Amino acid sequence: MNSSADTASLKALDRAHHLHPFTDFHDYAKGNGRIFSRAEGVFIYDSDGNRMLDGMSGLWCCNLGYSQDRIKQAVFDQMQQLPYYNNFFNCSNQPAVELAAALTKIAPPGFDHVFFTNSGSEANDTNIRMVHRYYDLLDKPEKKLIISRKNAYHGSTIAAASLGGMKAMHEQAIGLDYVHHVNQPHWFELAEPGEDEASFGLRIARELESRIDELGEHRVAAFIAEPVQGAGGVIVPPDSYWPELQRICDERDILLIADEVICGFGRTGQWWGSQTYNIKPDLITFAKAVTNGYMPLGGVLVSDKVADVLMAKGGEFAHGLTYSGHPASCAAGLATLDILHEENIVGHAAEHLAPYFQNSLEGLRDHPIVGQIRGRGCFAAIELVADKETRERLAPDSAGAVFCRDTANNLGLMVRQTGDAMIMSPPLICEDEHIDYLVEKLTAALDATAEHYK
Ligand code: PLP
Repeated sequence: MNSSADTASLKALDRAHHLHPFTDFHDYAKGNGRIFSRAEGVFIYDSDGNRMLDGMSGLWCCNLGYSQDRIKQAVFDQMQQLPYYNNFFNCSNQPAVELAAALTKIAPPGFDHVFFTNSGSEANDTNIRMVHRYYDLLDKPEKKLIISRKNAYHGSTIAAASLGGMKAMHEQAIGLDYVHHVNQPHWFELAEPGEDEASFGLRIARELESRIDELGEHRVAAFIAEPVQGAGGVIVPPDSYWPELQRICDERDILLIADEVICGFGRTGQWWGSQTYNIKPDLITFAKAVTNGYMPLGGVLVSDKVADVLMAKGGEFAHGLTYSGHPASCAAGLATLDILHEENIVGHAAEHLAPYFQNSLEGLRDHPIVGQIRGRGCFAAIELVADKETRERLAPDSAGAVFCRDTANNLGLMVRQTGDAMIMSPPLICEDEHIDYLVEKLTAALDATAEHYK
């Protein structure tokens, strides 16, 4: 598997039979791409033996890196004991019970229930089903509209993609007609000339209020957002933004859904992004890092406000997935939480890794093609520009950032590009030397990009 001949035949087989998610088929047909064969700590290795520091924690999920034997063992043991049973029709299994209880212990106050899914997308579908059921039970059946944000990513099922606001996805899918979008708090792109961040944050937040007025308060059920928009480009909101959104949702009887699929489990420097931004959500979406990405698992943390209504009148919430609360996935979740607690990962992220990481990136601020550096906790984005003053981009179609990403990848650093921004979300177990390595490779990639577009 590690010889280049094997890699070539595997790639050919892959091209012949495997349709990849979020991959340009023409580009892939040219033979681009990598096959990953193993991983250790915070490093991943491709089948040609190239080693890369995983500056993205997989897809924002392997926050504890790849060598957590305790999680692997927990899955193996659970497979021996009870590899599967479902949670429908009054049934349950021990890991699902224990994980639900353990999650409510780390959840913000007032969250005592969990609904399990396999993924973040399904969890957001579940949010919609739950919100609709909640208002039906309250005899407000006309409250069905959901407001989300442009450039958001909430998953890939029809409902989650509708909640999302990414243009390319909406061009390929007909969005659900009860989902509406307002602007994102992307100061670098959307601020008016001379507008400071605080005023900008308020202006963008108040778009929600105007949209509610337009649609009718009696028809709007919920607003969904990530505390920090992740896949959209690590869009860190101005401090004025969230308090204003919270005021609007509270005053208008709109449920607030915090999608914490990326922000949850320490990424922003606290257990939940909601805590970092002092948000009081009614529903919290989680997935990814709950099992350190080793097993598929997602879900919704349900506040007492919503759960009490769902449960008070009895009757069935006619929703569920064959693998909701899968015992092996939940065993992985329990082991992951144990590690997070015992090794004080969130504390370390807040007290050491986050400041070290953000300060290390500061050194790139004067780089000729860096237009903005933004970040919070342990993730960050760097906007690439040809001209710092005018914010003119390096090349059309984000080609500059694609070039920079590919260069970084070839230098041994896995980072991602979104639009014209470079994105980083390193594992929370990184040591200083890993962050130094990340910054060194990224600097080299930025230098090469600047040279290329000179
Ligand atoms: N919500 C957010 C904020 C995400 O970033 C993602 C995935 O990246 C999802 C939902 C969808 O999760 P999944 O890919 O597990 O369906």
